[in-house]
Amino acid sequence: RAKNEGRCRYAFFDEEMEQAFAATTELEQALRRAVENEEFVLHYQPQIDLASGTLCGVEALIRWVQPGGDLVHPGCFLPLAEETGLIAPMTVWSLREACRQAARWQSDGIHIRVAVNLSGVLFRQHDVHRLVVDATTEAGLDPSFLELELTETAVIENPESAGRQLAALQQMGVSVAIDDFGTGYASLVYLTRLPIHRLKIDRVFIQDLGSSPGSRAIVKAIIALGKNLGIRVIAEGIERQDQLRWLEEQDCQEAQGFYFGYPVPPAKLQDLVDSGTLMVP
Ligand code: C2E
Ligand code: MG
Ligand code: MG
Ligand code: MG
Repeated sequence: RAKNEGRCRYAFFDEEMEQAFAATTELEQALRRAVENEEFVLHYQPQIDLASGTLCGVEALIRWVQPGGDLVHPGCFLPLAEETGLIAPMTVWSLREACRQAARWQSDGIHIRVAVNLSGVLFRQHDVHRLVVDATTEAGLDPSFLELELTETAVIENPESAGRQLAALQQMGVSVAIDDFGTGYASLVYLTRLPIHRLKIDRVFIQDLGSSPGSRAIVKAIIALGKNLGIRVIAEGIERQDQLRWLEEQDCQEAQGFYFGYPVPPAKLQDLVDSGTLMVP
């Protein structure tokens, strides 16, 4: 029965475990074990360069593998991971695994960048530059194929530390994308001071394109902002052709969403490339 109750049901959930506190403790312990035993996989979602129609990158998205093989999505465990600090070792794992996979693709002739999501917590507690140097070196990955996705909040909450570390990352060729752009409460000043390479328009604006003139205005403004600052813009959450058409008319440069492809295991991505479903440059 647990299986049919949505993505946030865990195999280890006991039917009688009614108390939220007990459930949280149980979840926390399970998550701690998962981090120790590396019970995660990364799925990769295609990012398309709209001018050429080719695959220009992928975003690595973490999933927690349950004992029965079910996958739990990050929305179900990231809040607790943030609260407990487990987000740090978890994200370090994502970073290392994504670098290893990116290096494998490079040697198979698939020259795409791989984007990894970093939590703001990481900037508070860790030397992100050091982590990235270690992960790319260990994997033998040319750092220019690595992109880090940060939210506006992550950057704004840690201005000095983020600024220093992003500058060092830029030096080594790593690129930085601002995730969920337009939904934070950030001042835009950081866009002129930090090395930012890509703005990812949050999918809430894309979902509303057809029905909301306000969302259309905001998306146009973000595309213009990117153009004027020399920062590339990628729209996330494209599900339909009409959304794609409209974004192409606005000269949006890149897109990501279920319309182009779901997040998939690395072997499946390889199949999509081999079969010509996804074209590589
Ligand atoms: P995000 O970085 O904004 O990632 C995009 C999310 O939108 C993914 O959800 C993806 O599956 C979903 N998505 C992509 N295209 C579409 C679409 O066309 N329609 C709809 N409705 N959804 C779409 P997912 O995989 O559940 O990830 C959720 C969030 O978890 C991510 O949001 C990211 O912030 C975080 N996350 C994922 N992996 C990691 C990780 O390794 N480390 C950290 N720190 N955070 C991660
Ligand atoms: Mg992201
Ligand atoms: Mg996003
Ligand atoms: Mg989002």
